[in-house]
Amino acid sequence: VRYGDKTALKIRRLEVISGEALALLGPNGAGKTTLLKVMALLQLPNTGEVYFNGAKAGASNALAIRRRIAMVFQEPLLLNASVYQNAALGLKLRGFPSREIETRLRPWLERLGIAHLSARSSRSLSGGEAQRTSLARALALEPELLLLDEPFSALDPTSREVLLRDFQRIMKDTGITTVFVTHDREEAFTLAARVGVMQNGHLAQLGSRESVFMKPNSRTVAQIVGVENCLPGVVEGIDGNFTVIAAHGVRAYTTRRLEVGAKVVACIRAEDIYLSRESCEAEIPNRFTGKIIELLSGMAGHRIVLDCGLLRLVALLARKESLDVAPTEGETLTVRFSPAAVHVIEDD
Ligand code: ATP
Repeated sequence: VRYGDKTALKIRRLEVISGEALALLGPNGAGKTTLLKVMALLQLPNTGEVYFNGAKAGASNALAIRRRIAMVFQEPLLLNASVYQNAALGLKLRGFPSREIETRLRPWLERLGIAHLSARSSRSLSGGEAQRTSLARALALEPELLLLDEPFSALDPTSREVLLRDFQRIMKDTGITTVFVTHDREEAFTLAARVGVMQNGHLAQLGSRESVFMKPNSRTVAQIVGVENCLPGVVEGIDGNFTVIAAHGVRAYTTRRLEVGAKVVACIRAEDIYLSRESCEAEIPNRFTGKIIELLSGMAGHRIVLDCGLLRLVALLARKESLDVAPTEGETLTVRFSPAAVHVIEDD
């Protein structure tokens, strides 16, 4: 897709598998919404083709295909009418008689916890209730493909969490094919089995949520999926079961087999770093001494930046696994990570 001389979307191929939940993650302007609109046949690509269940979409069948797709936007698009009328709109536009609309819609109003609001004006709804109304409208259509553009991002944290849980259950029970755009890594990981990471209009990586989050294929993807420790280095040699990478004046050990001399980036998620107050004299791979130079204590735990000499590492210490006495800035700790937790990006 081009806008003037700017290419907003350039994707070789993307296949959405029937019954799957696919998350599209990426920074602002990456092309996520554009991709969703192309899938919804709301935007024609300048070049390229869109297929729906094997049929190429074109002028003759676009409307018929669009009727098998439902889309939910970040801001609920509601008319100044009752919740029921708003939720019934899609079915009404598709010509369903009132009785059938009632039969199809009622279970969704109940399922989404808004049946008691049926007669209420959409103008008086909270953000969460309004988004539930849009979801009811979309789900009542029984679409074969549900597309959602940041559906939960405008909600307050409590409404968001509750709706996220409800929606997760609905996805599980219906098995509906879903593609959703999000900026939230946690949301992508929780709701989707596959994740596509977008950057500059490209699909930078597509794979299972585990592979994308734990094994990003580039530094850009690593950054987008929140890998905080990326150490550029060179493969120095093999030591028993481990490959040794010289990075930042230290040696990092990985279980990955790599060619000696290769330029690589060793990635370690902050969650995979262990911290302790016990010093250890034995030579253990990936064990360092680090001084806390930055400490950010959140609800779930502490985000700690450690100065390990030439190496700087970010670690997350979950509150429940917290050291008996909370860590303090300036304190020196033993820092350790497993060679299995060192993911390596080659030729970045
Ligand atoms: P965000 O996370 O901010 O919603 P996004 O990943 O959804 O971003 P898109 O909305 O798809 O990104 O936009 C991709 C690029 O295309 C951006 O640079 C945007 O400015 C540009 N763009 C989108 N729509 C138009 C338009 N109608 N005219 C011109 N440029 C557009």
